[in-house]
Amino acid sequence: MKVTVVGAGLVGCLLTCYLARRGHEVTLYERRADPRRAGAERGRSINLALSERGLDALRRVGLDQRVLEGALPMPGRMMHAVDGGLTFQHYSADGRRAINSISRGDLNGILLDAAEAMPGVEVRFDHRLTGLDENTGRLTFETASGPVEVDKAQVVLGADGAFSAVRTHMQWRPGFDFSQSYLDYGYKELTIPARDGDYAFDPGALHIWPRGSSMMIALPNPGGSFTCTLFWPKSGPGSFADLDTPVKVKEHFTRHYPDAYAVMPDLLDDYEHNPVGHLVTVRCSPWHIAGSETVVGLVGDAAHAIVPFYGQGANCGFEDCVELDRCLGEKGDDFAAALALFEQRRKRNADTIADLALDNFIEMRDRVASKAFLARTKVEHALERALPGRYMSRYELVSFSTVPYADIQPRINRQRTGVAAAAAGVLAAGALAVRSLVRSRR
Ligand code: FAD
Repeated sequence: MKVTVVGAGLVGCLLTCYLARRGHEVTLYERRADPRRAGAERGRSINLALSERGLDALRRVGLDQRVLEGALPMPGRMMHAVDGGLTFQHYSADGRRAINSISRGDLNGILLDAAEAMPGVEVRFDHRLTGLDENTGRLTFETASGPVEVDKAQVVLGADGAFSAVRTHMQWRPGFDFSQSYLDYGYKELTIPARDGDYAFDPGALHIWPRGSSMMIALPNPGGSFTCTLFWPKSGPGSFADLDTPVKVKEHFTRHYPDAYAVMPDLLDDYEHNPVGHLVTVRCSPWHIAGSETVVGLVGDAAHAIVPFYGQGANCGFEDCVELDRCLGEKGDDFAAALALFEQRRKRNADTIADLALDNFIEMRDRVASKAFLARTKVEHALERALPGRYMSRYELVSFSTVPYADIQPRINRQRTGVAAAAAGVLAAGALAVRSLVRSRR
């Protein structure tokens, strides 16, 4: 089949690799210039935490090792208290499993190289999709030399992100459900540079400054720097709107993030010039429509954008590629049938991780600092060690497994019931033992 993929971001590139491997001819259109030459926009380099779902998808096309070469493992989270106190906590019970910090630009570059190297793939940069007739498959792109029309794509897959142009065209169809909801929070990127080539903080952790109603995180980069992200309210006290002068920013950082402030020489410049990004959750259905001459579908953020607090958006989008490939295999590469099956299997999972990601914001900015949270995690890790493979925490199931997101809560409920039953059994056995001991003493 001749397949058009719109969007050469993370998911569009990986999907192209999977489709080309199945023998399809793929043309990949991207509105930006080639990011390998143009570099990232200021304040938009945001690095990613790549975990098992994403790695599994990369492994299946032989890209995992190449990606991991440029990544830094983060086996735990490091919480920074206002007084500079540090608390480290492993993500996994054995302390060995890690999420991986990787630059978005580097990852995109590796995936673009891989997609371009596949037979039957053509990549066209500086092509912004502006028109799509979902009946005929006629596409219009805005280019530097004016609009360009492309005739009759048999299959169009929108991998064009949270504000997808492909999805916008599908939305005109009656019966298309769509919702987008913004958090009252925005995000801004800052940097902690290397100090004489060394890291200011431990590079083997995802750093969190939980401050109740807001937070900052930092992920390490090769070379000694950290990329930080502020997640602050957009308005009200302590918000981006409120902290609008260098004096206020400096005062706020010295009060709430003193250890970070001490190692951020570029803070005021970064703060002033880096944009505030928006955090959006997008849900829609159906994810595909079959016109008279073409099939149009959505994958990745275009189908299900989520907030970043579980570090799963790209991981989930990569998992989409695995599932769509599987569905195409099962349906003999009939795209309409495969896309229908894909949505049937993936939608509930995408909805679940969207909810988990929203919940995890409260956990990260507030609960991770509490004694109750630390104690609960210790108990969970003890249970995981005592019942290997049979008890896994929610975090481990999300980040270190490929158990479908929607199956995680039912599994946790079963685990809890099992543990409660075992505990009741132990108590009952204990009571019996005490009773017989008392009797024997009499
Ligand atoms: P995108 O990466 O948005 O790519 C879409 C591509 O389509 C872009 O290249 C864009 O230029 C192109 N495009 C858009 N419109 C058009 C058009 N009209 N015509 C042609 N091309 C077009 N995920 C994780 O897994 N782990 C993390 O730790 C993590 N951290 C994050 C932190 C932040 C602050 C944010 C905002 C997100 C984070 N994510 C994380 C989510 C992750 O970035 C996204 O889920 C992922 O990038 C989605 O990939 P995508 O290819 O679907 O969309």
